[in-house]
Amino acid sequence: MNAELIAVGTELLLGEIANTDGQFISRCLSELGINLYYHTVVGDNPARLASVLKQAAGRSDLVITTGGLGPTYDDLTKEVIAETMGKKLVLHEPSLKRLKEHMEKFGRTMTKNNEKQAWLPEGCIVLDNDWGTAPGAIVEGEGCTVIMLPGPPRECEPMMLYRVMPYLQEREKGVILSQTVRIFGMGESAVENRLAELMKSATNPTVAPYAKEGEVLIRVTARAETKEEAEELIAPMLDRLHQELGHAIYGTDVASMEKALVEALAQKGMTLATAESCTGGLVSQKITSVPGASAVFYGGVVSYADGVKEDVLSVPLKVLAKHGAVSEPVAAYMARGVCRITGSDIGIGITGIAGPSGGSEEKPVGLVYVGLCVKGAVMVRKLNLGGIGRDRDMIRHLAALNAMHMVLEYCRK
Ligand code: ATP
Ligand code: MG
Repeated sequence: MNAELIAVGTELLLGEIANTDGQFISRCLSELGINLYYHTVVGDNPARLASVLKQAAGRSDLVITTGGLGPTYDDLTKEVIAETMGKKLVLHEPSLKRLKEHMEKFGRTMTKNNEKQAWLPEGCIVLDNDWGTAPGAIVEGEGCTVIMLPGPPRECEPMMLYRVMPYLQEREKGVILSQTVRIFGMGESAVENRLAELMKSATNPTVAPYAKEGEVLIRVTARAETKEEAEELIAPMLDRLHQELGHAIYGTDVASMEKALVEALAQKGMTLATAESCTGGLVSQKITSVPGASAVFYGGVVSYADGVKEDVLSVPLKVLAKHGAVSEPVAAYMARGVCRITGSDIGIGITGIAGPSGGSEEKPVGLVYVGLCVKGAVMVRKLNLGGIGRDRDMIRHLAALNAMHMVLEYCRK
């Protein structure tokens, strides 16, 4: 099923509010595996809404509109939908009764305007609104179904969840299952290039990569009658992905790098501690966000100043003076030092230049050294994380991911 969304509201066009309804509904449709091809925003103008609606109905199986269902003169979505789909508006008695009861409960008198909300396209499926006054509706037309939802997010979101999702699930039948493969150390375009043929030819399951803050996620989605059948469809695709990208895959259906790391450390029965300079504790923050991290994580030192690197981690002043704080030997000493003071099996030391200032030709912004010490043996990796669009936060985030990935690789060896 191909769907599109139409958000109705002049305030959206003026930038006064963001289209959060659109975002919410998009996520729901994606969960159902329904392809969503267009988002349109149109003002409270009947002619322009009618034109957008005609185009949408001509190219999509499902159109969902938000906004313009209220009692006021500028709320005209329902009228335009009815007219476009060749339906009359008829008074829906149960909705009128609900409205009346609602008004009484809040001590308000019913006006003609309010009554307008109970007029709905003939033959539609009425979606009771337990979160506000205007009911939604599903109008099943030839070749296209139009669903209209109220605009206020506190009404639109529960209506989508509890009224529309069950309807769509029933219509789509069967189950939709997704599994996400997580990739590190390979860019989105490299992944897409590698998978171009596969992505084009795969229909069930579908394969869709997307970039997420320094990682690439590949979502494999299958539709089948039962969960078991969907799993059977997904399994060979996961094998294919491992054949193509095995070296870069670090987890399937795992929530994050830190989660994968905590699990891997636990499996290996090893403990970790961190010595962080440019990441300022980001790695320990991420690791300790995982429940159960205490079993594998001893602690971290944020050694920002040279004095702390020297006093706490025993990085020799000589080495700091000769090579600078951002250097291979300093990262190595930091990793070793934190193992020594905490007694952990594994230590990581991170030192780098997060920017925006402080870079030089020799040591540009984004230069990061990560030291990994495992039971006394140390290796250091030099990373160049700078570049267009890589601000301080991003460089620090990428440095943290790289450091965690190094430990993960070691655990999986
Ligand atoms: P009401 O009965 O409140 O008039 P309605 O269905 O007629 O609801 P609108 O009048 O279009 O909806 O919008 C009401 C309010 O809902 C807007 O002022 C805005 O705050 C919010 N809203 C509308 N559309 C969206 C949207 N797409 N995303 C987020 N908020 C929205
Ligand atoms: Mg309104």
